[in-house]
Amino acid sequence: MPLLLLLVEDDAVLSDALVRTLQAQDMQVELLQDGLAADVRLQGRQPAVVVLDIGLPGIDGFEVLRRLRERGSATPVLLLTARDAIEDRVRGLEAGADDYLVKPFATPELVARIRALARRFAPPPGQVGLGRLTLDSGTRRARVGERALELSVREWGVLEYLLQHAGRVVSKQQIIDAIAPWGEDLTLNAVEVYVSRLRLKLDGAGVAIRTIRGFGYLLEAGN
Ligand code: CA
Repeated sequence: MPLLLLLVEDDAVLSDALVRTLQAQDMQVELLQDGLAADVRLQGRQPAVVVLDIGLPGIDGFEVLRRLRERGSATPVLLLTARDAIEDRVRGLEAGADDYLVKPFATPELVARIRALARRFAPPPGQVGLGRLTLDSGTRRARVGERALELSVREWGVLEYLLQHAGRVVSKQQIIDAIAPWGEDLTLNAVEVYVSRLRLKLDGAGVAIRTIRGFGYLLEAGN
């Protein structure tokens, strides 16, 4: 599977060249050019690595990073700093950056650092997470930070499906089809009950299940 990379860079010439180079390295690149858009995007499904410019329209890279870490996300972030200013590097590392690169940089070095971060932070197979919540399909264990979460089989199914589709709206019927594929008797009302129980259990997890009226639900980072 190609590595999913989120590139946040407002310099059109640079980002254009980077997207092409990184795609040629078998990476799936999402490009955003605005800090606020990046903040919203990062409340959904997490990329393997974020490459984040500091000087951005909307909010700057430091603030995007600060909000990401505040939500409990450990997604690796590589900061691009415009100058070799030591204050920028210190500030970035303090804000929770995992690596940084000073512009102008050689593209092969960026590629190597992205791959190194992806390896270092790769979740174990079968593990999905958002905010402080982690679900491990192999061991069937759910955790909020270090706290174990007790879930019924149905609650597990609903939460796993929502997590796998974090940041996207899913209908109640899609949830039913996913967790009761053999036409077992599962009603839309039952899904609502599971969701309200999950909301109680997810208190403090840094994720929220939002109701999209008349359609279904959206799981995203936040409270
Ligand atoms: Ca910039």
